Amino acid sequence: MPTTAYNPFENAQAQFDNVAEYLKLDEGMRELLRQPMVEMHFAIPVKMDDGSTKVFRAFRFRHNDARGPAKGGIRFHPHETADTVRALSMWMTWKCAVVDIPLGGGKGGVICDPHNLSRSEQERLCRGYVRQLYKQMGPNSDVPAPDVMTNAQHMLWMMDEYETIAGGRYPGMITGKPVGMGGSLGRTEATGFGVIFVLKDLLRCLDIPIESTSASLQGFGNVAEYTARMFTELGGKVIAVSCWNQSDKTAYTFKKADGCDIPQLVEIKDSFGSIDKEKALALGYEVLPGDAWLSQDVDILIPAALENQITPAVFPNISEKVKILCEAANGPTTPDCDELIKNRGIMLLPDFLTNAGGVTCSYFEQVQCNMNYFWDKTEVLEKLEYSMTKAFRAVYELSKEKNLYMRDAAYIIAINRVADAVRLRGWA
Ligand code: GLU
Repeated sequence: MPTTAYNPFENAQAQFDNVAEYLKLDEGMRELLRQPMVEMHFAIPVKMDDGSTKVFRAFRFRHNDARGPAKGGIRFHPHETADTVRALSMWMTWKCAVVDIPLGGGKGGVICDPHNLSRSEQERLCRGYVRQLYKQMGPNSDVPAPDVMTNAQHMLWMMDEYETIAGGRYPGMITGKPVGMGGSLGRTEATGFGVIFVLKDLLRCLDIPIESTSASLQGFGNVAEYTARMFTELGGKVIAVSCWNQSDKTAYTFKKADGCDIPQLVEIKDSFGSIDKEKALALGYEVLPGDAWLSQDVDILIPAALENQITPAVFPNISEKVKILCEAANGPTTPDCDELIKNRGIMLLPDFLTNAGGVTCSYFEQVQCNMNYFWDKTEVLEKLEYSMTKAFRAVYELSKEKNLYMRDAAYIIAINRVADAVRLRGWA
């Protein structure tokens, strides 16, 4: 799957430039918003279990904090690049703005493959990340969260390191923590469930019953898992799931024409989202090449893995039956596909709106930590559905009213909110 030929930062800037032109933003404002305001590049020395020292390159970028402290995940990935983190930090700014939470955009990354690190090496890496960044992070400045290949345990090690240095308790300095340790109920499910809250409302607007729809997904990490779980619980059928196989170093698509049993697939996946091929075969799944997820005859395609997966080169493989492209990953579609999507009449649910459930629940987590009073799961999920549906409706209505592509409508709302905050602060 192509992940390197396209530069995500150039994609993010191209998307921004288009909308900045439409909104006639001033030169200064454009320059400020088309790049991160702060970039930290650093090295983390980690004592490995065999006694040697390994040095990991790491990043934390703050794109914009005019609307509130920077917010965004930390990714562990062997192919992480500064430009990917730049793009992702920018998308976080738009994401927080489109759902109207008082947070800015940030993102972090470490170039590493956690598959090859023991639990204690991962702990030392997390603690090392905080030691290097301590002065630049905190509940009022920059608040990390889980992302690709990071989880609640990683967040807790980071919080513990931060609190050890700070000499106090600061649960609002990071989100996505384990429940009972400052985490929010529903945070694990939030991104995937948020995807479905948005999709469900679009289907309602289009008068399509969800029980009549089928989907094909790329990815089987946290976001894909909970997206697939809720989609199937509501009666939709997941025909295929594609994911990375660590032992074969390749991706496969697992298909069941009459619908995948998602809890069963979860049983046979590892913590990074790789489904066990042999076990899947034994359970009667067809095992197809990794890119076969894209060419299935389904109503809905849900890319829920990495960026730059849908390009003009693979676009013709998308079945004529597909009506909705529901972007659960960050930046899964390259900008040169937007015209192709429009021409085919496919409805697009843009990434930074569709997958904003995670950060919205992170915001709820911070609120609960500040009050030191935790809500039950029903309350969290009700609030999440309310926020996601409200944000989606605003985007959908603007797109109808002005005959705009849904990505552009989402950008217009988000960029306007951030530009207003920048102006009110007197920055531009
Ligand atoms: N990593 C998630 C995202 O890309 C969540 C960020 C957060 O909760 O701060 O939206």
